[in-house]
Amino acid sequence: MKYYSLNKKSPVVDFKTATILGQAPDKGLYFPETIPQVSKALIHNIENYSNEALAMEVISPYIGDAIPKAELERIVNETVNFEIPLVKIKDHIFSLELFHGPTLAFKDIGARFMSRCLGYFARGSNEKITVLVATSGDTGGAVSNGFYNVEGVEVVILYPSGKVSSVQEKQLTTLGNNIHALEVNGSFDDCQQMVKTIFADAELNKIIKLTSANSINVARWLPQQFYYFYLWKQWKDKDNPPAVSVPSGNFGNICAGLLAQNSGLPIKHFIAACNTNDTVPDFLRTGNYQPQKAVPTISNAMDVGDPSNFMRIMEIFQQQIAGLKNTLTGYTISDEETKATLKSVYKNHNYLLDPHGAVAYNALEQYLSQNQNSKGVILETAHPVKFYDVIEPLINQTVPMPELVAEQIRQEKVSTKISADAKELKEYLSKQ
Ligand SMILES: *Cc1c(COP(=O)(O)O)cnc(C)c1O
Repeated sequence: MKYYSLNKKSPVVDFKTATILGQAPDKGLYFPETIPQVSKALIHNIENYSNEALAMEVISPYIGDAIPKAELERIVNETVNFEIPLVKIKDHIFSLELFHGPTLAFKDIGARFMSRCLGYFARGSNEKITVLVATSGDTGGAVSNGFYNVEGVEVVILYPSGKVSSVQEKQLTTLGNNIHALEVNGSFDDCQQMVKTIFADAELNKIIKLTSANSINVARWLPQQFYYFYLWKQWKDKDNPPAVSVPSGNFGNICAGLLAQNSGLPIKHFIAACNTNDTVPDFLRTGNYQPQKAVPTISNAMDVGDPSNFMRIMEIFQQQIAGLKNTLTGYTISDEETKATLKSVYKNHNYLLDPHGAVAYNALEQYLSQNQNSKGVILETAHPVKFYDVIEPLINQTVPMPELVAEQIRQEKVSTKISADAKELKEYLSKQ
């Protein structure tokens, strides 16, 4: 498989180069030259596949010969070795729980896959690779965990000071060793912008080998297709495929779902569930893509005003807005609505959502009220305990904390403070 840059001004590359570069030299996102189709047999007999075998079927065409089969099998097996259950919340609404991985967020899947691919590529090289990543909350923890002690790889994480939850902050600032946390005096968009500026800095890129672990990296984006197939595997009503509501920020997750659908996976409809950072729902309403300044919300991992993966979504739909609108509906959910949903779902159905899942739930209910014959699934992207500070006052109860998280909370935070200035970041990286 070859990948081209969406800006069309860089040469095509294979999976290895796309993974190591993260972003193309012309600042475009990499996109596969063709979208592979899964077999009808796989769709019809999906219950007979193990999660590992399914993941291999989905990802192999994207890797080509960049990684030998046995090695890829090992990477895949380590990526998906936790459960991803489909749980019924009430009639017509189910939750695909993506938070049973080591950092309790769906990003574990992409981060584990990517870190192992890079680890494999680094083994063949004597040059150190530096992973530079901006996080709105959960990426930091998932990436730190995935890369912790991976030989030949240093990780530098930028996060917006005071704008991530306390569990999230501890997950990315307490590991140490090859993991370095930079606490930026700014927003997530500032962090993302700084990262983009650094990647485009030819001078710096001559001294250090930089790559990104954001969902702009194909090795993080593509494996996120896996769990849409696991959803179909567990879906009972095969004659009535589900509508899937995806809590969306940088739009990598939903973009992977749209890619899976394009490959032949039966998903009836996609719902882009956003908080008030609703650049894409706004685009679907008006046809105008207007990046906004991110505003802080209680579903902080979705506080993104200029989602990177939007470009890839347009490419999947060959830049046709009409086709996109047939497949994707966007909703904007306020913090008040999010809180009310979280409370009522807990009270009425005894299911504890996290704020991101609550955004998805509210959007799905709105969609179902207009599409009465449909059934839907929310992607529950994080464990509620990651947001206990928001949730506990709403339900008047404590959220039981898994021992792993309790242990992390007790660790001491280590971060380096910097301002939202790419020059300062460049200085820091030059000294690495
Ligand atoms: C990152 C994140 C999202 C947003 O995912 P995108 O792929 O950026 O759209 C949603 N929920 C949680 C809990 C997250 O960590």
